Amino acid sequence: MNRVQNAIGGERTDSASKRAGALFNPATGEQTGEVPLSTAAELDDAVAAARAALPEWANMPPLKRARFMFKFKHLVETHAADIARAISAEHGKTHDDALGEVQRGLEVIEFACGIPSLLKGEFSRNVGPNVDSYADRQPLGVVAGITPFNFPAMVPLWMYPLAVACGNTFVLKPSEKDPSAVMVVYDLFQQAGFPDGVLNVVHGDKEVVDAILHHKDIKAVSFVGSTPIAEYVYSTGTANGKRVQALGGAKNHMVVMPDADMSKAADALMGAGYGSAGERCMAISVAVPVGDETADALIEELAPRVRSLKIGAASDPDAEMGPLVSKAHQQKVLGYIDAGVQEGADLVVDGRGFKAQGFDDGYFVGGTLFDRVSTDMSIYKEEIFGPVLSVVRADSYETAANMINVHEYGNGTAIFTRDGNAARAFADQIEVGMVGINVPIPVPVAYHSFGGWKRSIFGDHAIYGPEGVRFYTRLKTVTTRWPEDIGAGAVYTFPTI
Ligand code: NAD
Repeated sequence: MNRVQNAIGGERTDSASKRAGALFNPATGEQTGEVPLSTAAELDDAVAAARAALPEWANMPPLKRARFMFKFKHLVETHAADIARAISAEHGKTHDDALGEVQRGLEVIEFACGIPSLLKGEFSRNVGPNVDSYADRQPLGVVAGITPFNFPAMVPLWMYPLAVACGNTFVLKPSEKDPSAVMVVYDLFQQAGFPDGVLNVVHGDKEVVDAILHHKDIKAVSFVGSTPIAEYVYSTGTANGKRVQALGGAKNHMVVMPDADMSKAADALMGAGYGSAGERCMAISVAVPVGDETADALIEELAPRVRSLKIGAASDPDAEMGPLVSKAHQQKVLGYIDAGVQEGADLVVDGRGFKAQGFDDGYFVGGTLFDRVSTDMSIYKEEIFGPVLSVVRADSYETAANMINVHEYGNGTAIFTRDGNAARAFADQIEVGMVGINVPIPVPVAYHSFGGWKRSIFGDHAIYGPEGVRFYTRLKTVTTRWPEDIGAGAVYTFPTI
């Protein structure tokens, strides 16, 4: 049995907590390990270790910090398959999908390697007689990250590489559902030679999260997870004087215009709706064809594709999607399909009875497709986070755009069209943070920043990229006078030249 350890001050340690969570292989339903639900005292130890590492780390020239990051990048690259296997073992996603996750995390490390340039400040000579002014960005201190189950390696990598490159030290609280991949990457981080205590990992649940939110020595918190918890983390963290970025849930729509290539739009919806079994915050869960003819043509393309989805364990190289992460989540998704039927949606493909051969106890749900979903149904309003695609028919582009604009979530969206005018109007006017034009999952690359709008984010900063650098640093502006000729007598008026 895999017994997951904490990592505090460079030491991997067994938690003293009496509470633990069980870890499962989602393809078989077998218990494979245990994760400690650590205590607030253990979080205190991790913060103390991060604080002890801080002075040397924060004062180290950024170029030297970047050299550790280059080594880390190389190690993650060469061990990508090991990390992917650890992801799949507890999350259930296919090996290739897990490799894609590692690659997107790696790209944030690559971005962080450029930290000397990213921290370059501004300088103005002679802002007054013999007076110069410069502004630069300094680290915050000890910062923390709290991450979700669906990208167990990538989302932590959205946070700590950039945070530590900026000169902060870090305490990470990974998801308790699939914590092992984080530890594979942690070992690589240590192998890269980062000083002990720069990165610390404390596993746990609400007890550790609350300890983070109330700890006086933690200056900032990055959170990614569901909206109710994001809102809680934001309000509690900011009430305790911390800088907080909290990214929440999503309901992403893809508008299909009548002029779109239906076959390409259906292919895009398959990957975006069913990839990773729909457990992506950028998954498309609502298709909005404009006009009944478009809707009929789209359903005709989609239905056979959904019926022939290849679903299996991560070990099956042909599988296009795997199981859901847990039994509880599988039951929740099945409950949503029942609700959709009860609410009167048209169930075109029913994934409820699906069984993967040889994996009877796995947490599988088959690909599910609903047509004629209306905006008052729970399957439309709420995030299902499973392989369930809802088609909501719109009579015009305006109806489609308005539907998206009034939805409580605003993470990602896409439009498929050959009409440049429609595409440009959509990009300009839609109230969503990340927009794809003929791109179904518009996740920004590492040198841009990731963040939704509305109740998909709480806080002012998107994550990673230039916004990440701003989040993990604070501005200092210094005004200097040399030679030291400050003139005669005191001046009581506001300084001007
Ligand atoms: P979750 O909110 O259940 O858990 C996220 C983190 O919060 C975990 O570390 C968990 O231990 C902690 N947590 C859970 N309940 C808590 C509580 N009551 N008090 C304090 N902490 C608590 O989310 P999840 O199920 O792990 O992940 C899926 C969700 O994450 C989906 O809603 C998805 O859309 C969202 N997500 C969003 C993004 C984004 O960038 N916007 C990215 C990935 C996932």
